[in-house]
Amino acid sequence: MSTPMTKERRRILVTGGAGFLGSHLIDRLLEQGHQVVCVDNLFTGSIDNIAHLGNNADFSFLDHDVCRPLNVEVDEIYNLACPASPIHYQYDPVKTVKTSVLGAINMLDLAKALNCRILQSSTSEVYGDPIVHPQPESYWGNVNPVGPRSCYDEGKRCAETLFFDFQRQHDLDIKVARIFNTYGPRMDQADGRVVSNFIVQALKGQDITLYGDGSQSRSFCYVDNLIDGLIALMETPKGFTGPVNLGNPDEFTIRQLAEKVIAKTGSRSKIVVKPLPKDDPRQRQPDIALAREQLKWNPNIALEDGLEKTIAYFQNILTPSLA
Ligand code: NAD
Ligand code: UDP
Repeated sequence: MSTPMTKERRRILVTGGAGFLGSHLIDRLLEQGHQVVCVDNLFTGSIDNIAHLGNNADFSFLDHDVCRPLNVEVDEIYNLACPASPIHYQYDPVKTVKTSVLGAINMLDLAKALNCRILQSSTSEVYGDPIVHPQPESYWGNVNPVGPRSCYDEGKRCAETLFFDFQRQHDLDIKVARIFNTYGPRMDQADGRVVSNFIVQALKGQDITLYGDGSQSRSFCYVDNLIDGLIALMETPKGFTGPVNLGNPDEFTIRQLAEKVIAKTGSRSKIVVKPLPKDDPRQRQPDIALAREQLKWNPNIALEDGLEKTIAYFQNILTPSLA
């Protein structure tokens, strides 16, 4: 997708910029003519995701943990730093809470000191195992505060609270995006998320690990569409805070996803059933009426097409090990 150069060049901080979404966001911001400072502690992200930017004079990288205060001069902040896959955020759950909560406090303090706009990458997990379906932003959710997913869900909920308290208390210009399951190139092949797991398993001819009976559902958004939405939200006038759902409302069962991946890869892999993780949400579909209206945002890349691009990416990076 070609991106028009921006009229107003800004210096933009992206935390979590070496991760899956952060690295795509940085590519797009640089294409628009901005300068980007990427902050990341490389816990789940990778230098490989930003290696192609090494010679770009508008790009700089800071190896920094957002749990510690940060002092940089920027005009705008996207706060994405946080492990996002269940195996990664459950690996050190106390650290996950710290990253969400202390990370939010440190980045909000920075935004307050600089008097600049700040966007939080929140998540559909704030709805927990939702009883209301599809989920509008007005739904308060159904979250277990003491389960294995709570470090992520409650950490992200607390971060949202902090964003809104900084807005009410300090008139800070905040934006909160609630991101639903997003997939695409640069997902970490070992992070356990369903799209990358199924594609890698199919390409390697391994069993496809279906957790539970596969009747649980998710709605999958291709990364390019998601980045459009994040930037459109950042560009809204002061006073429009969200939270705004960003996701593709086309909903599929996990079994349907497994079948699509097998068909698209032409794999001989078999589907095998594994235990369903505790507190795994039964269903998830964003109500995106607000994003459509306020951001004029339309996630138009169908799962079939996004899967093809993602499969091509994994085919490419797996080729040496498959040969
Ligand atoms: P990711 O794991 O690929 O990226 C997260 C990045 O944050 C990594 O580069 C990691 O090294 C960095 N990080 C983690 N802890 C840090 C710390 N303490 N200090 C500095 N950097 C740190 O995950 P992603 O899918 O790109 O997710 C990015 C953001 O979007 C996360 O905040 C996540 O909660 C949110 N999100 C993603 C999805 C999705 O489907 N991808 C859905 C909902 C929300
Ligand atoms: N899942 C699965 N097999 C896998 C990985 C995940 O069946 O190898 C299921 C998982 O139990 C969940 C869904 O796929 O129901 C989405 O999982 P993911 O970790 O990608 O995202 P989240 O649960 O955070 O939405």
